[in-house]
Amino acid sequence: MILSHYSIVYPYEEKPGYVLLFSTKNTSKILLKEATFKSIINRDFPTEDEATLSRIGMIVPDIEAEKKEVFRMLDQINEKNQTLSISVILNLDCNFNCIYCYEGGMKGSLYMTDKTAGLLIDFIKSRFALNMTNINIDFYGGEPLLSLELIKSISAELKSFAESKGVLYTFALITNGSLFKRRIAEELALLGLKRIKTTIDGPPEIHNACRPFKSGAGSFDTIIKNIKDTWDIVKISIGGNYREGSYEKYPLLFQHLKKEGLTPEKIYNMSFYPVMKNPADISSSIDFTDGFMTLNEPWLIKASIYSREEIFKRGYNTPKLMPSLCQIELNNYYVVNYDGGVFKCPSFIGRNNFEIGSLREGVNDYSQSHKLGNWRNGECEKCVYLPLCFGGCRYMSYVRDGNINCVDCQKPYLDAALETLIKQDIKYRPRHQGVQ
Ligand code: SF4
Ligand code: SF4
Repeated sequence: MILSHYSIVYPYEEKPGYVLLFSTKNTSKILLKEATFKSIINRDFPTEDEATLSRIGMIVPDIEAEKKEVFRMLDQINEKNQTLSISVILNLDCNFNCIYCYEGGMKGSLYMTDKTAGLLIDFIKSRFALNMTNINIDFYGGEPLLSLELIKSISAELKSFAESKGVLYTFALITNGSLFKRRIAEELALLGLKRIKTTIDGPPEIHNACRPFKSGAGSFDTIIKNIKDTWDIVKISIGGNYREGSYEKYPLLFQHLKKEGLTPEKIYNMSFYPVMKNPADISSSIDFTDGFMTLNEPWLIKASIYSREEIFKRGYNTPKLMPSLCQIELNNYYVVNYDGGVFKCPSFIGRNNFEIGSLREGVNDYSQSHKLGNWRNGECEKCVYLPLCFGGCRYMSYVRDGNINCVDCQKPYLDAALETLIKQDIKYRPRHQGVQ
């Protein structure tokens, strides 16, 4: 046996005489006696914990075979995936005027028609394969709840189709949260709504400045009220967008949540992300020039660790460290625009060269246009972070370079932040994450 190519060792001052091993392949971790670690390096087997180390992928019999297995990981994910996932952009209209909206100048009174919704249902039925067990839709906008009747009619049809096939139909809303009233939540839950993802950017003064209603009025209080009224019906995920000057204000948001009684058991999970810069081909009603262009910007490392720590410290849940796979690589995933155009990523809607087809005419081969497998290059193939990254986010490359020819390399970010992120997990949820 030999140390896995994807095992990283970190010092662990918290427990003298031990080191921390993390596997980027399995996202497993273990605290190991230094003597045992030395035995592994010296290939002095059997060692203490050998069976466990092998089971969680820290040691392997053959490095080259292991690398080949990782290079096949995406193929295996695609082979095993039994869910047909579609993101549907129901409209490009919104009752908010967020300062950083990536849909920018594309927005307007543009709605999916009943006819296009019919084509969408036909498309989903035609893509459904016998080995599938789930059909899941994420309804996006603009603001999806401005198309409430369409959500209901599409869901009723797909629910009955799924039932006829003996599979499950579920859906989620990516919503600004302002229209999600209890009556609507109850009605949609009966049709398969499981989760909403809404956005709160910080305490009221920050959130209201970033995400006002079109009228200019603040939206914070409305969203909080709606969450309070609906958390017992569907899972509610809160995402927040921050900028260099705003993330340190998250403690004030948590004070508000506490005051409003929105305790951790009422919120499914929380995650905060930096606002991306808009690409050069986007125009917005408001001049927004802030935003990041690569995760490797030094302030972002501090900000991502700080905001995750705040979530943990207050007892809320946040997504685990896991491989972040660009959905473009998933065979059973499509994005359908309000006008019937088909894409592979919601961020690319409206850019014709990234449209892979249409509901009417079907889907074309997108392997070249979307640079599938762009991580199959010498640098990535030897990189210890490959299973966590697989070439990163193509949209991020597009924002930065104006094309997706190069990978979105996160190595400097992971070099600087990963150790702390793993240690946060150990500190705040050792039982949940199975620290050995
Ligand atoms: S390009 Fe980026 S935003 Fe789009 S699916 Fe891939 S990772 Fe997600
Ligand atoms: S893009 Fe960078 S971090 Fe990702 S696998 Fe390639 S070299 Fe590693």
